[in-house]
Amino acid sequence: MPGKTLVIGATGQIGSELVPQLRILKGQENVVQMGHSSRPPTGPGPSVTADVMDIEGVSQIIKEHDITEVYHLAALLSAVGEHEPQMAWELNMKGLVNVLELARSHRLKVFWPSSIAVFGTGYPRDSTPQETVLLPTTMYGVTKVSGELLCSYYHRRYHVDVRSVRYPGIISSETPPGGGTTDYAVAIFYEAIRRKRYECFVRADTVLPMMYMPDCLNAAVSIMKADIERIGRRDAYNLNSMSFSAADLAQEITKHIPDMEVRYTPDFRQGIADTWPRSLDDSEARKDWGWSPEWGLERMTSDMLEKLRKRLSAESS
Ligand code: NAD
Repeated sequence: MPGKTLVIGATGQIGSELVPQLRILKGQENVVQMGHSSRPPTGPGPSVTADVMDIEGVSQIIKEHDITEVYHLAALLSAVGEHEPQMAWELNMKGLVNVLELARSHRLKVFWPSSIAVFGTGYPRDSTPQETVLLPTTMYGVTKVSGELLCSYYHRRYHVDVRSVRYPGIISSETPPGGGTTDYAVAIFYEAIRRKRYECFVRADTVLPMMYMPDCLNAAVSIMKADIERIGRRDAYNLNSMSFSAADLAQEITKHIPDMEVRYTPDFRQGIADTWPRSLDDSEARKDWGWSPEWGLERMTSDMLEKLRKRLSAESS
């Protein structure tokens, strides 16, 4: 009998939508959401509150709930990480080492997301190859490169079945993002609905790779479901979905909200965005485990506006 799944970082942008998705696939009682004391989990189904830095505490949860699979999503993201680089190193590295150690001792299968932040300087920014120079300029990127190397190491040395992808900026309507450089691509939707005005923190011509939440969840679930012999790499697979400039996104939104105004006032996050890819070559993920994104800019924008309008009006009534 397969055991249960633990989602660490369950209350964050990705976790809050991954938990319900996994519960549809595996049954509510078989997915345990783990929140942190700063953001405890809410809602139905098995829930625990713990700190991923506390290996004994998480080990106890794994034993008590008969966990065999972990999605480890707790991290400090790129922009927040630049304010607190030591904390980013501490949480992103110790958290991952703890999860990999627990995977080794409890024979767990692990999903851990890397990021386009692994890239920085000296690589091609268009159709960025799977294997190229990894010289990140942020502490977040440093922890993601180190994390990829750790995953590879734990697989080679201890045969830990750990699987990873390099996510681009994730766009979603359920939970606001946690302080990354691509947050503008979500914030613009909230402000378009609330105020019809948005002050964007990157330049209009800034092109970055993005992904809508349904494709993000599909990537995590698909790579975890894939037969073990199809996982050819244990660092992290490049993923690509859609790429657009901040102005392209604003223009798409104005098709729905014609009197929307956007001003561009770049801040320190522009410097980070300028070091990240514009698009990625994800042919290895497509070939190895069948990655195939379904959402583009136009359909994502309509869906985001519809979902967010419903959620914001339900919250205000
Ligand atoms: P988030 O910041 O929204 O959520 C992180 C969660 O971790 C939060 O719920 C927080 O409460 C929890 N957490 C923080 N410290 C903790 C601790 N000590 N112990 C236990 N939990 C703790 O992040 P997200 O956007 O959902 O990202 C999830 C993962 O995906 C991260 O590894 C991130 O690097 C990666 N990723 C995200 C994006 C994106 O655009 N959202 C892009 C690329 C990669």
